[in-house]
Amino acid sequence: MPKVSDLFVIGGGVNGCGIARDAIGRGLSVTLAEMNDIGGATSSASTKLFHGGLRYLEYFEFRLVREALIEREILLKNMPHISWPMRFVLPLSSEMRFDNTTPTSRLLARVLPWLRGRRPDWLIRLGLFLYDHMGGRQILPATRTMTLAGTREGAPLKDKFVKAYEYSDCWVEDSRLVALNARDAHMRGAQILTRTKVISAEVKDGIWHILTQDVQTGVQCTYLARMLVNAAGPWVGDVIKSALRQNTNDAVRLVRGSHIVTKRIYDHEKCYFFQGQDGRIIFAIPYETDFTLIGTTDADHFDPSIAPVCSAQEQAYLLNFANAYFKTTLTDNDIVWRYSGVRPLFDEGAENASSASRDYTLKLDRSLGAPVLNVFGGKITTYRRLANSALDQIQAELSHDGTPWTHDAALPGGAFPVTEVDQQIDRLRETYPFLDNAWAKRLIRAYGTDAHNVLGDSRSAQELGLSFGASLSEREVRWLMTHEFARTADDVLWRRSKLGLRLSQVQRDELATWMKHAKTDHAA
Ligand SMILES: Cc1cc2nc3c(=O)[nH]c(=O)nc-3n(C[C@H](O)[C@H](O)[C@H](O)COP(=O)(O)OP(=O)(O)OC[C@H]3O[C@@H](n4cnc5c(N)ncnc54)[C@H](O)[C@@H]3O)c2cc1C
Repeated sequence: MPKVSDLFVIGGGVNGCGIARDAIGRGLSVTLAEMNDIGGATSSASTKLFHGGLRYLEYFEFRLVREALIEREILLKNMPHISWPMRFVLPLSSEMRFDNTTPTSRLLARVLPWLRGRRPDWLIRLGLFLYDHMGGRQILPATRTMTLAGTREGAPLKDKFVKAYEYSDCWVEDSRLVALNARDAHMRGAQILTRTKVISAEVKDGIWHILTQDVQTGVQCTYLARMLVNAAGPWVGDVIKSALRQNTNDAVRLVRGSHIVTKRIYDHEKCYFFQGQDGRIIFAIPYETDFTLIGTTDADHFDPSIAPVCSAQEQAYLLNFANAYFKTTLTDNDIVWRYSGVRPLFDEGAENASSASRDYTLKLDRSLGAPVLNVFGGKITTYRRLANSALDQIQAELSHDGTPWTHDAALPGGAFPVTEVDQQIDRLRETYPFLDNAWAKRLIRAYGTDAHNVLGDSRSAQELGLSFGASLSEREVRWLMTHEFARTADDVLWRRSKLGLRLSQVQRDELATWMKHAKTDHAA
């Protein structure tokens, strides 16, 4: 008879891994099953911002924005390696238009009808004032107004943009966030199963019997648990209907978002926030040192089994949007990579994909004889808060009284002050003089203080074993396979790192072949 865990989590995205980590830290026993790679779905396809979401203010989503703003700095302190402050330049233009369906737009049309459809500068400044003051900002600098002419920020933009606001948010390496949550949960005792799909779950004598299948070998197993969490992201509805055979009116609204990546367009480290004439906004963000990330779109997506891809229409939309601002005209030929993900939003019947709420909703269901908590929506930024709220309900169901602990608990490798990244890079180079600055920076930005454990007692690049290109060594790949659940070349090149942008097809194939034959102790 298999052991009964307290909690079984379906889904290894940011929400599932965040809940598993929080739960194990409170003394509950936890098993998590992910049918693909950790962070392989939505949680590696985001815009990668820890942000309050300036545009949500137009939808009067004050609770969500406030919670997310407060959360930015908490997360930044707990993971100074994979997250960092970023300044956002928002060029002003009278041509840009409101989405007419937002509550702010409707209100403005009623009280100031001559402004119908327009988003005046003073309104943006008011929004930024709220943004600066709603979230107990301590580390991040405040908004400022700037004249673009003659500045580095103004140089890449068309001359018609003369004034801008500059405000703060944070960047996060989304897929590393998931991997580090899973790693931390595992180090604290959680069982993390990857490439393991939950096929069905039924209750017998008050205990969940969960049938899983290894998607590579086909081997099936049964796990027992007192409570189930359905954090299947875009598949949350499928799990409810197919695995739990439950009818529900709670529905998920799938909203696809795509990004394109180009060679670096400009030479400073700030991000641009561009408003469009259709009421939407996009970002252009410095990415992986040599690239620029542009996104995102909002399009309804009707079937989670259809893998999201950036359509030709979305690609053209993003290029046209960016070209309205940049002096350089970007074309299809400038695109080096594109990715797409699906937001699993709680369906409240919003008019369009952009206006569907990004807030999270937790639905507890006891009707099957044992509790299941279904997770809808949420943002990368609010994953820790979502986990905290989930744990309130889980502990009540399981009569457990563990204390919240993640508020000031660093993720693996992240126990150093936000201001000391450069010192960490210097220290790594002192210990391993064969590293150049770019290599050391990449390792600190990925692993933080764990970079020393990744490199171990190596005294030269040769002692790191094979080199797969772009400073990716055999030793690092073995670390990822042993400690971060990586199994395939794509796991390493697109989710544990973004070295896929730098390796040739031949190098990628070599890594794939090597990993297929490599012997390593898997973390799980
Ligand atoms: C384009 C885009 C941009 C975004 N930008 C931002 C941003 O900048 N900032 C921000 O805060 N948020 C952003 N978000 C939102 C954020 O990415 C998502 O809210 C978050 O990643 C959802 O995480 P999740 O864990 O719920 O879902 P997922 O990451 O999709 O995880 C669910 C997991 O469940 C697994 N699964 C499903 N069914 C089963 C099963 N039967 N058995 C086992 N496993 C299963 C899946 O394989 C998947 O890995 C963005 C989202 C998108 C799409």
